[in-house]
Amino acid sequence: MELWYTEEHSENVRFSIKVDEQLYSAQSPFQRIDVFSSKEFGKFFTLDGLMMVTEKDEFIYHDMIVHVPMAVNPKIEKVLVIGAGDGGTVRELTRYETIKHIDMVEIDKMVVDVCIKYLPQTACKLDDKRVNLLFEDGLKFVRTKVNEYDLIIVDSTDPFGPGEGLFTKEFYGNCFNALKEDGILVNQHETPYYESYAKSMQRAHKRINEFFPVCRVYQAHIPTYPSGHWLFGFASKKYDPVKDLNAENWNKLGLKTKYYNTDLHTGAFALPNYVIDLLKASHE
Ligand code: SAM
Repeated sequence: MELWYTEEHSENVRFSIKVDEQLYSAQSPFQRIDVFSSKEFGKFFTLDGLMMVTEKDEFIYHDMIVHVPMAVNPKIEKVLVIGAGDGGTVRELTRYETIKHIDMVEIDKMVVDVCIKYLPQTACKLDDKRVNLLFEDGLKFVRTKVNEYDLIIVDSTDPFGPGEGLFTKEFYGNCFNALKEDGILVNQHETPYYESYAKSMQRAHKRINEFFPVCRVYQAHIPTYPSGHWLFGFASKKYDPVKDLNAENWNKLGLKTKYYNTDLHTGAFALPNYVIDLLKASHE
């Protein structure tokens, strides 16, 4: 008998991965957590039936959510990470000796415990001395923070369930206040390809744009996310992600990356016309 993991990417489209074994399944106070093993993607985990991380393609997402802002402002020292329970974002951040402190605010401790056990590939740096792990709602956490962070990374689930608040106007306004005068906000921005995801993307873009003078979107190809075409938001009080890219400085660091490089950085901000149109329409 064959076992397949199937996820609905739209009402009319499904994506499946052949599974060797289901390694874990439980309901946390916030969401259902499942872990599988597979030949093509290695181990992978899902929340409420939606793909979060696979061993095979997580490097793309984590490279792009971390190295893009780090290559724009090499002086980033204090970082707030919201969500990111698998640890992949923190793993990439801890490669920078210049980073002094990382607050990681994840709502669901069970996700972190499960990833430490089943996905050490991403969870391997959560015990770094600079990481302060807090189990709280990110929406509430930022409410009281003013002028504290150089970078905020929102590595969240989609805008329903516990992640819903992380796509609201209130949240983005509080992130703006929590950032220093040259602060950067990066967030996962959904896919532009399927209508319901595109609507969430447009809403997020519109709301972020109301607070930040610089508000850009960049893309990556992530095979296990809906349509494979995924977007990230780059918002900033000061830096333009392309003009202010400090390529020479980043390349001097000698970090070995499997996806990110500074040429791709510039190219990632060159968007297809239909995405440009969706972003424009979000302001109308
Ligand atoms: N890379 C993934 C993706 O885009 O599919 C996201 C990874 S990470 C596992 C997302 C995390 O956000 C989850 O562990 C979830 O518990 C957490 N999360 C959701 N809502 C949150 C909230 N309000 N505050 C803090 N963390 C939250």
